[in-house]
Amino acid sequence: MRSRMTMFILLTLMFSFLQGSINNVSNFEAEAPEVTDWPEGGNAYDNLVTMTQFGYRKIDTTANENSRNWIAAQLESYGYQVERQSFTTDECSNCQNIVVTINGTLEDEWIVVGAHHDAICYSPPPLIGFTYPTCTSSGAYDDATGSGALLELARTFAQWDITPQHTWKLAWWDYEEWQGSASSEGGGKGSLHFVEQQIPENTNVTYLNLDMFALNWPVEMPAAMQLGCNEDYWTLYMFTSPVEDWSYYEERGLEVTEQMEANAIVLQSRLKEINHNLSHPTEWVSVVDDTKGNSDHYNFIMNGHSATWLRGQHQYIIEEGDSCEQTPKHAQSDSVTTLNTMAGGRTNVESGLQTGLDVIATMALWDRNSTADSSDEVVIAQASQGINSAIAIIAILIVTTIFCVVIYRQEKDIFYDNET
Ligand SMILES: [Zn+2]
Repeated sequence: MRSRMTMFILLTLMFSFLQGSINNVSNFEAEAPEVTDWPEGGNAYDNLVTMTQFGYRKIDTTANENSRNWIAAQLESYGYQVERQSFTTDECSNCQNIVVTINGTLEDEWIVVGAHHDAICYSPPPLIGFTYPTCTSSGAYDDATGSGALLELARTFAQWDITPQHTWKLAWWDYEEWQGSASSEGGGKGSLHFVEQQIPENTNVTYLNLDMFALNWPVEMPAAMQLGCNEDYWTLYMFTSPVEDWSYYEERGLEVTEQMEANAIVLQSRLKEINHNLSHPTEWVSVVDDTKGNSDHYNFIMNGHSATWLRGQHQYIIEEGDSCEQTPKHAQSDSVTTLNTMAGGRTNVESGLQTGLDVIATMALWDRNSTADSSDEVVIAQASQGINSAIAIIAILIVTTIFCVVIYRQEKDIFYDNET
């Protein structure tokens, strides 16, 4: 009788220990990073409206200078030390990128998030690129959406008491836009200056480009906008360093290395993981190979870094022979009013901005430097913690079983002894 009591007490202790072990596993998995602030689409929208109020932000203009000064002043008010990276080209005597840095534990591994603060206006298709004196644009979509969203990310990151693993740079590029058919040079000059002059040797960069989004998931496409391009929502594309098709970059002289291929796979899978985590439907928030290159991410990829471009567009843009482009880029009509009309109201523009903000903010959060040095290592740590717990559980079960068998035999012996 006494040995049965002992068995009962011991088994109770064993199972409570077992339960504690299981609880430890779920507690570990449930552990969420803690931040006090999250970027808001409404704030990004307010920023984009302010950007448009400086006028036509063409390179080498007062409007361009005033808008970048405003960005710098906002950043300083958030507590950043602002770096002004001035550069000149044949057609720009006063060009300037605005850049801030959030130091991570790694000095030579960067994540750069960029948007361009300049704007352009010229004739639309079929005769693209003719500039004329009355052609001005407030560049609301292209690219006050990206610039305004990036400023909201900067405000949020300044609130976070987190040291990232990577060193983060937030950059507002000048002279992204091609100046039209009368121009002697192409665009992408601000990001090119950064890539060629501002990245130390042996520094590995992941670049996240924000250029023309907001007209994307979860914004429905108004029937009037579909123009025979039948679809339900605007899509947020992440045109990313290719996993399959590097031809666009190879044709322009890039020698693709194994490291570039490996980095592209890592970036694409990380973006997919983030979107999955945010419950973004893959149909409307889509990570695809970049095969067009025509924004600032091009310069990063051409210089061996990995990159992605967040761009809102309609669903069928990557199909052959597509002619459904309906966004107002480079047109006189690129205004806040047009953006609101196309999205079906201000609230929808904010929701579209929120989708992009959530992606970048999640990436930043996962890059935090907490118990482990990177989110990869966090995942590994979680997995090994899980394995350790599983081993502990199995060991406890084995010990318990042996114990029960021993006690059972002893009881039997006692029983038989008593009987005989
Ligand atoms: Zn643009």
